[in-house]
Amino acid sequence: MVSIYDIDGIEALRRRHAIQPHRMKLFLNALFKNALGRDEALAMLPEEVRDDVAHQVEFQTLELAERHDSEIDGASKLIFQTSDNHLIESVILRPKTGRTSLCISSQVGCACYCSFCATGKMGFTRNLTVTEILDQVVQASRLVKTEGRSIRNVVFMGMGEPLLNLDHLFHSLEIMRAIPYFNYSGSRLMVSTVGIPHAMVRFVEQFPDVQLALSLHSARQDVRERLMPQARKYSLDQLRESLLEASRHGKVMIEYLMLAGVNDGDEDFHALENYLRDIPVHINIIPFNEYAGCNLRGTARPEREAFANRLKAAGFDTTLRYSFGADIAAACGQLVQHKRGLGDGLG
Ligand code: SF4
Repeated sequence: MVSIYDIDGIEALRRRHAIQPHRMKLFLNALFKNALGRDEALAMLPEEVRDDVAHQVEFQTLELAERHDSEIDGASKLIFQTSDNHLIESVILRPKTGRTSLCISSQVGCACYCSFCATGKMGFTRNLTVTEILDQVVQASRLVKTEGRSIRNVVFMGMGEPLLNLDHLFHSLEIMRAIPYFNYSGSRLMVSTVGIPHAMVRFVEQFPDVQLALSLHSARQDVRERLMPQARKYSLDQLRESLLEASRHGKVMIEYLMLAGVNDGDEDFHALENYLRDIPVHINIIPFNEYAGCNLRGTARPEREAFANRLKAAGFDTTLRYSFGADIAAACGQLVQHKRGLGDGLG
C-alpha cells in the first residue's frame, strides 16, 4: 500500500502502471483541488488501471463519527475516529466574510496540560500521522463543497501542540503547499504553538511564508507557568529571542486569552507592552470559553475591549477575536475527546 501523500511512492506507481502524467494530474486535482470522492477521482485514470490503483493506494484512514453544527454562528465540529479507535476533532468556521476556515488537530490529546484547555485535561495519547492530519482537510473540503464553499484557510489550532509533532507537521505542510496536491500558499496556513523556542526557529526557517501564532497569554513568567506548564521549560527571554527570529519573516500572531483576575490587570498590560515592544506582531485578544470542570473565568467584554484599546494606543496592531462554536464545544480550548467508549455508540 502506498499513501496518497507519498509523493515519490505515487510517482513510482504512475510509472509502474504507465499512467500518463496528465492523467495522474487530473486524478490528484480531482481529489485535492476539486474535493471529489475517491471513485470520481479514479474515473480520471485509464479504466484498465483503476482497480489496481484503488487497491494499492491508501486514500484515507479517518471515519467521520459525528458532526455538530452551531446554531449561533455557523461553525461545525467534526469528530473523526482513527483506525485505532481514538477520536479527534476538527472545526469548520464560516465567518461572515465568506472565507471558510478549518481548524485541525495534530495529536490525539496533548502533553502540554494548559490549565485553560479541555484538551489538556485528556493527557497525551499519540501524534497524528500525515495521512490523519491531511484527511481532516480532505474530508472537510468535501463537506463544504456541498454548500458551494471551499476551505480558504487551514489553522493548526485544534487538539495537540503541532511543534511537538514536527516531522509530521512539516510533511503535511509540504503536501498542502505542493502544486500537484492542495497548492495552498503559505498565507492560507497558520500554525499555533504554546512556544517551543528551538522548534519555532526550525519552523520559520523551513516555512518562512506560513503564518506562526504564539499562545503567549502572559508576559509574566510566574503567571505563564501557572497557565501553561510547558512554559517552565523555557524562560520568557528564550521565547523572546525565537519570537524576534520568527518575526524577521513576517508578523507573528500573539494569542492572548483574557482571564479574569489572572492576566488582565495593569501589571499584566505593562509586562505585555514591554515584552513585545519593537517586535513586529499582531495581538489577538481572545475570550475564554468556560467549560465544566474548569474554575477559570473569562474577562468581561468591556474590559477586554479596554485592554485591546490600550494596546492599540501603545502602537500595537490588535484585534478582539470572536470565538466560534461555543455552543457545540468547538471553540478554542474546548476540544476534548469524548469520555465514553467507542462501543457506546456515536452520534
Ligand atoms: S492549548 Fe493547545 S497546547 Fe495547550 S493543552 Fe490545549 S491543545 Fe495542548
